[in-house]
Amino acid sequence: MKKGIHPEYKEATVTCACGNTFKTGSVKEDLKVEVCSECHPFFTGRQKFTDTGGRIDKFNKKYKR
Ligand SMILES: [Zn+2]
Repeated sequence: MKKGIHPEYKEATVTCACGNTFKTGSVKEDLKVEVCSECHPFFTGRQKFTDTGGRIDKFNKKYKR
């Protein structure tokens, strides 16, 4: 493998909208994400949205959940 072909891959600090931060590998040093494994419903199994207003409530009422 020759050096200099690929961008430098370093440890990045990812900051999530929920306030959680974690490290990952990236060519950028700092990243911002909307959801992370700590707050995404897919990972947590919970609904924990902070910025969707009443959309979840409306959705739940509409479908009587
Ligand atoms: Zn998060």
